[in-house]
Amino acid sequence: MIKCVIWDLDNTLLAGTYLESPDQRLCADPDAARALAELAGRGILHAIASRNPPEAAACAATLTGHAFAAARLGWGKKSAAVAGILGELGLSAGEAAFVDDDPLERGEVGRALPEVLVLAPEDLAEAIGWPEFSPPVITPEARRRGDMYASRRVRQEEAAAFGGSADEFLRYCRTEVRIAEATEADLPRLHELSFRTHQFNSVGVPVGAEIFARLAGGPQGPSRVVTVRLSDKFGDDGLVGGCVITVSGGTWHVPLLMMSCRALGRGVIGALLAWIRRAASLADASEVVVTCVITDRNVPLRIALTGAGFRADMAAKITLPDWAQSGEHARVAAYHAAPGQPELPHWVVEVP
Ligand SMILES: [Mg+2]
Repeated sequence: MIKCVIWDLDNTLLAGTYLESPDQRLCADPDAARALAELAGRGILHAIASRNPPEAAACAATLTGHAFAAARLGWGKKSAAVAGILGELGLSAGEAAFVDDDPLERGEVGRALPEVLVLAPEDLAEAIGWPEFSPPVITPEARRRGDMYASRRVRQEEAAAFGGSADEFLRYCRTEVRIAEATEADLPRLHELSFRTHQFNSVGVPVGAEIFARLAGGPQGPSRVVTVRLSDKFGDDGLVGGCVITVSGGTWHVPLLMMSCRALGRGVIGALLAWIRRAASLADASEVVVTCVITDRNVPLRIALTGAGFRADMAAKITLPDWAQSGEHARVAAYHAAPGQPELPHWVVEVP
């Protein structure tokens, strides 16, 4: 799936050349602008990589009416700009497309970053019909994704200028994490998170909305599906994470834990893990066990687990639920913690 389209400006997103056009005569290329709007509506992000002064990004935002998630302007290599954008947005090269009218630029990006989908502007009309650009579900979070990344840029700029600690910054931002039982309305977004998250995903396979519906079936059932919402003074990120909890005997099993990388560095995964241990303690559980399929990309989740006081058992005999099995000979680790009363950050709001 393509999560971000990175645009050249001159003669690609703009009908003309920024530096050679007096402002009043410059406009967005109508075909490119139409493709951009269509893809933004599907939750795909947009970014700019252009050989222009920084002001050209604001000009493109005005002309297209779109808030770009990231912009790299300057006279360096396009592949370096693209790589910088991927790093900033936490995306892998295979999740990005690059559109440029110049075949030399397309060639340079294609050689340096072979996994990036490289397109000429004339390819766009057909490309937007490809499966790579057609997410199976489009949630309210997806439609607002561009705005959320624009808020994120402002947040990051303020964070860089902020004098205090990371914790003080979260407080200054009026960060609010809401933890609640999933409702039916949450199911499409939970499904979407299951296939969009990689760095903070403990199973690495998509989980269907119908599975979440079954697991969340009733308060008396053996499983619970828990949702995590995040907002602060810069904007509302909506439903950013969730987990499945299954109680058997005195043990709280967590076969699925997932979190959007938008929540990275905002205290959310730590808050959820602390909440799980506290909730288990209040329910008189004897142990919390998070199972985690070892994937190339979920190292950040495993670091967060050990950081939150969980101890890894790499040799445990674990049977994953049917819906969490990838079909391969996956390595699975069990992360154990005693229930406890770790302090919850003051910004966590528990919704009964
Ligand atoms: Mg160009």
